[in-house]
Amino acid sequence: AAKQSGRDSYRFYDEAISSAMWHRLMLEQQLMLATQPDADLGLKLYLQPKVSLPDGQIAGAEVLLRWEHPEKGLISPAEFIPLAEESRLIVALDRWVFARSCRLLQESTAAGYQLPRISINLSAKQLQEPDLVEWCANTVKRFGLDPGCIELEITETAFINLADTVLERLQALRNTGFSLALDDFGTGYSSLTYLRRLPLDVVKIDRDFVADLCQDERAATLLQGVMQLLDKLDFSVVAEGIETTEQSALLHSIGCNVGQGFLFHRPMPADEFIALYYHEASSSC
Ligand code: C2E
Ligand code: MG
Ligand code: MG
Ligand code: MG
Repeated sequence: AAKQSGRDSYRFYDEAISSAMWHRLMLEQQLMLATQPDADLGLKLYLQPKVSLPDGQIAGAEVLLRWEHPEKGLISPAEFIPLAEESRLIVALDRWVFARSCRLLQESTAAGYQLPRISINLSAKQLQEPDLVEWCANTVKRFGLDPGCIELEITETAFINLADTVLERLQALRNTGFSLALDDFGTGYSSLTYLRRLPLDVVKIDRDFVADLCQDERAATLLQGVMQLLDKLDFSVVAEGIETTEQSALLHSIGCNVGQGFLFHRPMPADEFIALYYHEASSSC
């Protein structure tokens, strides 16, 4: 009987694997289709405002991808980005987001709505692409935009193997006029090395840091020191994942002037963001 159930669970295991693989293949297939330029298979740009501390005025926005799957509902990027990153699919996905963000800026401007600076996430894989700089430069040009209205967020773990070609690419992006942000700062292995070597404009303090801030005195002391360091190095700082007024006040008190988090706004569809931004602009006059 033991042997029998062993064989059964083995078979069960086998089926579990193949159904997981099937699920994956389906998602990959659909993602691939969804990134075709004219496809409308449910990929949507959401925007999360970045606000100045402490007054909460909108200072920019981060583009966050959402996938409104016809059967599965809203799928989080935490689920499909890692999947896409296992292949070059992520390159197409990021570029789709980049081009759609450019189109959003162009169409908003044409409709009389000048948007603040937009941040776009780039995956580590993108930095391996020899044509990245040229592609980004051509795309903003195609939409008649100034690269200065776009910030590129690159997560810290992208730089574990920091090749010279990657550094040159970053420098070239910056020379083109894009601003560069180091995302998820404090989660990598050699955060301080990155600060020394990368051509950066902005450092985004990771949400885990912010989460610990008010419970843990050492986390607060550490962040205070980091803030002084970043200030001396002339980086702008954005704190992500702010959920409480205490976190917001503490961050402001140690010199952090821009934040992002559910306390202020959740990521929202682009049209909601534009309405919010313009409502705010007119009510503050
Ligand atoms: P990220 O770039 O660090 O983005 C911040 C994430 O934190 C977003 O999750 C955002 O919704 C979430 N967040 C913002 N404020 C709060 C808060 O107060 N509390 C909590 N708990 N969470 C908050 P999201 O949208 O699920 O995206 C997850 C990650 O997926 C992003 O992390 C980014 O690494 C990746 N991602 C999203 N869109 C893209 C994209 O277009 N391209 C690439 N390469 N990656 C993307
Ligand atoms: Mg980001
Ligand atoms: Mg981040
Ligand atoms: Mg993060």
